[in-house]
Amino acid sequence: MALIVQKYGGSSVADAEKMLSVARRVAKNRREGNEVVVVVSAPGDTTDELIAKAQQITDSPDEREMDVLLATGEQQSIALLSIALKSLGCDAISFTGPQVGIVTDDVHTKARIVRVGDSKIRSALNLGKVVIVAGFQGENKEHEITTLGRGGSDLTAVAIAAALKADVCEFYKDVDGVFTANPSMVKDAKKITFISYDEMLEMASAGAQVLNARSVEFAKNFGIKIHVRPTFNEKEGTIVMQETKAMEKVVISGVTYNKNEAKITVRGVPDRPGIASILFSKLGKAGINVDMIIQNIGEKGHSDVSFTVDKSEFKKAMKVVGEASKTLKPAGILSDEGIAKVSVVGVGMRSHSGVAANMFKALAEAGVNIEMISTSEIKISVVIDEKDVTKAVAAIHKKFNLGKKVSGVRG
Ligand code: ASP
Ligand code: MG
Repeated sequence: MALIVQKYGGSSVADAEKMLSVARRVAKNRREGNEVVVVVSAPGDTTDELIAKAQQITDSPDEREMDVLLATGEQQSIALLSIALKSLGCDAISFTGPQVGIVTDDVHTKARIVRVGDSKIRSALNLGKVVIVAGFQGENKEHEITTLGRGGSDLTAVAIAAALKADVCEFYKDVDGVFTANPSMVKDAKKITFISYDEMLEMASAGAQVLNARSVEFAKNFGIKIHVRPTFNEKEGTIVMQETKAMEKVVISGVTYNKNEAKITVRGVPDRPGIASILFSKLGKAGINVDMIIQNIGEKGHSDVSFTVDKSEFKKAMKVVGEASKTLKPAGILSDEGIAKVSVVGVGMRSHSGVAANMFKALAEAGVNIEMISTSEIKISVVIDEKDVTKAVAAIHKKFNLGKKVSGVRG
């Protein structure tokens, strides 16, 4: 008997038929003698629809109230899944995040989990029930409802798996696993059988939609094995786990892209100590995550600073830059929402040289211009024009021989 935490995303519970098929799968796992805790997201596009509703009222809806609103999506899913399980004769009970003691900090719309209770879940498991928990939500110390940021249900699942010391945390997706590139963009993309936490982390923060980056970080810290697998068939998917020696033999694990960033350039700011600090501490105080940064030395003691932020924070960032301009007095502020970040990821980069050169060569051959570059130990990212994304990803995927027909790829 194992203790399994299963997480089903929004598309897996989008309608009654899909909900019932999830329920059948959960019931089967329970019948086989496992203890099962299920974490679910809001059905289909519910979260997007709720956001759109608020935005029809105002451009910048109050964040506390957004959390109250968005938490309703997941609450629909837990009740419906419990209804479905009971209709199949499998005893189940649904709980909201606050009910099971998911305590977060106070940052509305992207709160961090600080504690997860386990007693409520354990008592229900001891009664033989399947426990269904709403993903993406918790409460702060004052019992205010909070949400964990987009895709946050993954985080709920891993946090619960850690609190319960579960044997595995399974993520059911509408894809077969993690691929070397988005299979809808690159036809010969290959499913990855094993991937390390660090690679998955970089891929997730580089735009791979399949897992939420913070949940991978959490899993790594607590050593929770993640299994990303398909909802609508019984195939094995991708295991995310501790790095092994074999993983280093492969140079690149995958190519990802992210079209959700925008670039802001502050032109002609004084080139002296403290300038970057003024700008980025203001952005930090406003809770804006800055991704890439480059600074170019310009003319006559002035420099240009460019950085990227998530598109959802673009307006807020422009406002902060506007305010900082009162002190910085730049020559100009430019912005570009039509960019994309393309990244290659692999622990093999530590022991293979020439990876960056190969990536840039692939882009040059495809006629793609590079606007910004950044690297980490196991990732190289470039910012390019959004219209070139498909071309760029395909060219890089080919250059590193990541396609199906090539042997020797990890799997
Ligand atoms: N429903 C939330 C979202 O769409 C959380 C999640 O799906 O994980 O972002
Ligand atoms: Mg969703």
